[in-house]
Amino acid sequence: MTRSDTGSWQLHCPVPFTADDDRVMLAHGEGGRMMRRLIAQRIVKHFPGPTLSRLEDAATLPDLGGPLALSTDSFVVSPLFFPGGDIGRLAVFGTTNDLAVSGAEPRYLTLSLILAEGLPLAVLDCVLQRAAEAAAQVGVEVVAGDTKVVTRDAADGLFINTTGVGRIVPPAPPGPRALQPGDQLIVSGPIGRHGIAVLCAREELALEPPPQSDCGSLLQAATAIRQRLGERCRAMRDATRGGVTAVLHEWSAAADVSIEIDAAAVPVSADIRAACELLGLDPLHIANEGTMLVAVAAGAADEALAVLRAVPQTAQATTIGRVTARQLAPVLITRTLGGPQPLDEPAGAPLPRIC
Ligand code: MG
Repeated sequence: MTRSDTGSWQLHCPVPFTADDDRVMLAHGEGGRMMRRLIAQRIVKHFPGPTLSRLEDAATLPDLGGPLALSTDSFVVSPLFFPGGDIGRLAVFGTTNDLAVSGAEPRYLTLSLILAEGLPLAVLDCVLQRAAEAAAQVGVEVVAGDTKVVTRDAADGLFINTTGVGRIVPPAPPGPRALQPGDQLIVSGPIGRHGIAVLCAREELALEPPPQSDCGSLLQAATAIRQRLGERCRAMRDATRGGVTAVLHEWSAAADVSIEIDAAAVPVSADIRAACELLGLDPLHIANEGTMLVAVAAGAADEALAVLRAVPQTAQATTIGRVTARQLAPVLITRTLGGPQPLDEPAGAPLPRIC
């Protein structure tokens, strides 16, 4: 969905566009009858779990019988719908992926909405429908939420915050501080798809076919790999903002090691490579929303790849590099010619508002 220069909303979503008065108004956020109706008729119906429907001040959750993982994230992506995903799916998968790569089974989610006055209610319905489908896929229950409305110039359509609670299920990966020289690095699929899909949709770059985001759940893959490898799976992390480069720098710093990757081994689809060349971007710096890095002990890569490739979301997993003793540069890349060169972190985001 985009907002045109005339201020009207255009919906690229399989929901019929309804009358002009069927829009979010400031009164929908002011605590009265209109807000109650909006919540009851437009929001809660998408999340029919037993807890949310009580509409109490706080959700009461059962004892999950062990350590919990908690993660929160806000989603401000523009446009709200893009090839391969939308803000609703992103808000559920983004937070539950962070739980999954931490060794947790996502169980509960909060969902808070900041709506701009004038947003068509059909767009809200569509976003919530997608969020509900994603929550059902992951097996997470939406148990609490909040709705605020701001004036049309104070926000761009719709922002979402989600907070997820998960139950840590052993064996959880020990984490990046456990990385050791000799460990191998795997990327779970072709990189750069989300950031380029959003950029092309926002800037209306007419690439045919339009690049698709990798927006999706990593839960199945993360669960399978930690169950199979145990502590030989050192760390997992979804390569979101900052892309693969950001994760490599974070891990190098956490374990005081260096990481070497082989450029020729990094999977990049032909359309993303072409778009990056056109725009002067490095796919290693571009955000992903359903692709993770996995560090595994020396000798465990083939087993890890077999596990990942059996899961649709990570079917194109491949080994891209290894951990070495600390060198001068924290992250090195070997390109076609010459020896390893430092791979710097970008100073800031090449693309704003991609998640
Ligand atoms: Mg993450």
